[in-house]
Amino acid sequence: MFESLSERLSGVFDKLTKQGALSEADVSSALREVRVALLEADVSLPVARDFVKRVQEKAAGQAVTKSVTPGQQVVKIVHDELVHVLAGDEPEPGRLRVDNPPAPILMVGLQGSGKTTTTAKLAMRLAQREKKKVLMASLDTRRPAAMEQLQVLGLQIGVDVLPIVAGQTPIQIAKRAQSQAAMGGYDVYMLDTAGRLHIDDTLMDEVIQVRDACRPRETLLVVDGLTGQDALNVAEQFDGKVGVSGVILTRMDGDGRGGAALSMRAVTGKPIKFVGLGEKMDALEEFHAERVAGRILG
Ligand code: GDP
Repeated sequence: MFESLSERLSGVFDKLTKQGALSEADVSSALREVRVALLEADVSLPVARDFVKRVQEKAAGQAVTKSVTPGQQVVKIVHDELVHVLAGDEPEPGRLRVDNPPAPILMVGLQGSGKTTTTAKLAMRLAQREKKKVLMASLDTRRPAAMEQLQVLGLQIGVDVLPIVAGQTPIQIAKRAQSQAAMGGYDVYMLDTAGRLHIDDTLMDEVIQVRDACRPRETLLVVDGLTGQDALNVAEQFDGKVGVSGVILTRMDGDGRGGAALSMRAVTGKPIKFVGLGEKMDALEEFHAERVAGRILG
């Protein structure tokens, strides 16, 4: 993730830091290159534009051209702006509100986004790292294969899955998960909702009904990071209709550009909480803005 952006930016900043003194024209020309690099990384145009404008204003405000190490100072400003654009005011995005057991987590997203895989990855993480007792349930009543997939993953990672009962509606399953979680002393129960290939009213209505029935502590949207700008549209629509508390971007192992990740917070106002970096169950990483900004700037 971000490899190509990182390479482009290090080219720009190497030049800048090697140069001793900097004129305002040098800074402007470097920032033009930063803008191009962001756009090439598929960052949305308004986000790239605003980013460069903020850096420019800060650089002027701090009179970087008069400082002893002007190049480094510009890099520092870019770093801070990257953290801001990635995270807003959310310093610890991966921390989930899972107190007051049993805490429901609603997993939403389109079919094929990696929702079921991510549900299991997150369940494993909560169980192993945070020592939570986790129950998973699939609400995908239209796709028996998806329900079975969750059963298989549960066995694989040693996390309990609500038994499948034929003929139940998603709300009935959600209620059964809730009572089983309460009776069984679970800390968290995760509801893997049905996906569709495209957003439609039936999908949204179903998710809204489940949300109202179980009042989730977290509603996590799983989006395919490889879909770039489309990922932002999906996030805006889900957030507008259902309300999401955070985003998990999958397939970031296959995305050297990372534009969706860079634009998500600014475009949707929602924090990226985790990123999926592969098919394996442990390929889920907390999204730390500081760490990511550091990685981008090398
Ligand atoms: P769902 O339809 O949204 O539940 O999607 P699935 O969980 O079944 O995932 C679809 C495919 O994407 C599966 O083959 C997963 O192994 C794969 N997948 C999920 N997350 C990631 C990821 O972060 N990286 C990669 N490379 N593959 C992923």
